[in-house]
Amino acid sequence: MRWVLIGASTIAGEWMVGAIRAVGDEVVAVVSGDLQRAKDFATKHGIAHALTDEKAYPALGVDAVYISSTNEKHEASTLFAAAQGCHVLCEKPLATSLEAAIRMVQACRKAGVVMGTNHHLRHNGPHRVMREHLRAGTLGKLVAARMQHSVYLPVHLQGWRLDNPTAGGGVVLDIVVHNADSLAFLLGEYPVEVCAMVSNSGMAHGLEDNAMSVWHFASGVTASSHQGFNTPYAATGLELHGTHASLHGNGMMSQHPSGDLVLNNARGSEVLAVQRANLYEVCLNEMHRAIRGEAHDMADGVAGAKSLAVALAVLESARTGRQVAVADVDALLGHS
Ligand code: NDP
Repeated sequence: MRWVLIGASTIAGEWMVGAIRAVGDEVVAVVSGDLQRAKDFATKHGIAHALTDEKAYPALGVDAVYISSTNEKHEASTLFAAAQGCHVLCEKPLATSLEAAIRMVQACRKAGVVMGTNHHLRHNGPHRVMREHLRAGTLGKLVAARMQHSVYLPVHLQGWRLDNPTAGGGVVLDIVVHNADSLAFLLGEYPVEVCAMVSNSGMAHGLEDNAMSVWHFASGVTASSHQGFNTPYAATGLELHGTHASLHGNGMMSQHPSGDLVLNNARGSEVLAVQRANLYEVCLNEMHRAIRGEAHDMADGVAGAKSLAVALAVLESARTGRQVAVADVDALLGHS
């Protein structure tokens, strides 16, 4: 497949150019709002075309777009790509409002193109082994999940995430969506209600850089989700606790293939074998399956809208001090 990159971004340069090539695809062009940045990016990564206007890429014969501009720009690029008949892999959060995300999903549906959301964590080895154990019933009745996803935002990324609400800054939109997708992948459901508190540790300006929330699922499961930008020594993790066993995943909420998984039950403690693979390459291979019409594990556009709905509910709960129902994306899509 021939790809165009929308956004001369860090994630595109650090991960996605390599991943696209590793799965056998081609990066044809990069589009940036700044010509020099586009040229620098294209030179650095050996990309033939450096563009400043999306309208120029259809002439190049492109099959798919990867959108990693700041979040408020994702919608327009998705609508344009869909109108060109291009498949879309869009970064998370899909947008800064649920209405925009719904429009993106609808546009891709109408155009008959595949829309993916780059929720890479579900492709990490420990997530996959956790899901196998859940499906096999190893844990008994699942009672609770705990997610630790508080990190240190690298210095080179300490920009719009910390001070630009219009671009979708703040740790909630940035990381809660990943946590929601991780649990949806494992549990097969999204929370129906959340309550949350957020705080500012001094890294962000006028936005939250730390957040904790508790989520309630229709199945009765309760989950806690901690995400932060200013905790250099907080390890990440995901735990699942059932009536027969617990799974402890340590260090598994990362861009790298990482994490150890331990099963604890009446027989003791067992370290489980986990396969390691580049998460973004797995994501692209799953997208290829989706495009071929095969069963796949890619987070699609609907999954991206649902993870955004959870993050928006977390923000509303923190703002109002109330428990907040998570918007029903299926109903919104069905009704519109
Ligand atoms: P960056 O800040 O690196 O890039 C975002 C945009 O900022 C770019 O598209 C670019 O605009 C502009 N930009 C980049 N460098 C500069 C610069 N030096 N000066 C001025 N503007 C600049 O963002 P990220 O790569 O961190 O994130 C991009 C998207 O990807 C977000 O939606 C984010 O949430 C998501 N993301 C997803 C991850 C995942 O694992 N799924 C991980 C990290 C990010 P232009 O295009 O006009 O050049």
